[in-house]
Amino acid sequence: MRVYTLYHRPHRGATLAACHVGIHTHPHGTVVVLTEPGDNPGISVTNAVEQIAAQVAMMDELDPAATVWIEHYPNRHPPGLEDDSTFDETYDLVSFSWEMDGTGRLVPSRPVWKRLDAETAYRLMIGEVWIDPANAEATVLCPRCAVCGASISPDEVRTPCAGGCGAVLCFYCAISGPRCLGCAAELDRQPDEELPDAWLEAAYEDRHGYPDDERDSPFEEQYENSYVDDYPPGLDDACDIDDW
Ligand SMILES: [Zn+2]
Ligand SMILES: [Zn+2]
Repeated sequence: MRVYTLYHRPHRGATLAACHVGIHTHPHGTVVVLTEPGDNPGISVTNAVEQIAAQVAMMDELDPAATVWIEHYPNRHPPGLEDDSTFDETYDLVSFSWEMDGTGRLVPSRPVWKRLDAETAYRLMIGEVWIDPANAEATVLCPRCAVCGASISPDEVRTPCAGGCGAVLCFYCAISGPRCLGCAAELDRQPDEELPDAWLEAAYEDRHGYPDDERDSPFEEQYENSYVDDYPPGLDDACDIDDW
């Protein structure tokens, strides 16, 4: 994420205006948040949004087809008007028509504002959802890869975890292993979980002189009779205690 304050003038001689710019870069595109500073002395971000977008797009070399613009007004209630919703925090998606000007530069015009709820705006910023800048109607989910944490863009391959947990993996992580970290760890644990059984079988054979699965064999009696020692394995010297 890149943050800076952009100073701009709508025309020569106008008061210098300020706009806070936050640039969030994701594999599927860039989300630019233009925030109106509470103490902005000049033209508002709303009234200069085309000029600001043009300047940011040029400076940050943004691709209009892969950039979503959000206009943001923080809470700005004047004293005594704490309950007036006019001054609540707002987020608006701003869509532009981008056209080439005489110098070959893409310039935005005809801004269209669409109110966003704070949660959608936040999820756009962190890369969890995406909105096609050319068709701002619906948000698309960009789930995070359960291994590397990168958000998986709508046109990218997403592989369900082979452990069946419902998580998804990005293309690159799925190549190196089909499971999420949790399911891979679960798979690694299984040999350990088998250990008590193997240990019990060995202990049975130790005690009875024949393996558990030959319990019903014709040799059972023969084995049974050969059993003499009652000491648990490894404690054959326990009779030392008699010396006391
Ligand atoms: Zn990944
Ligand atoms: Zn999993």
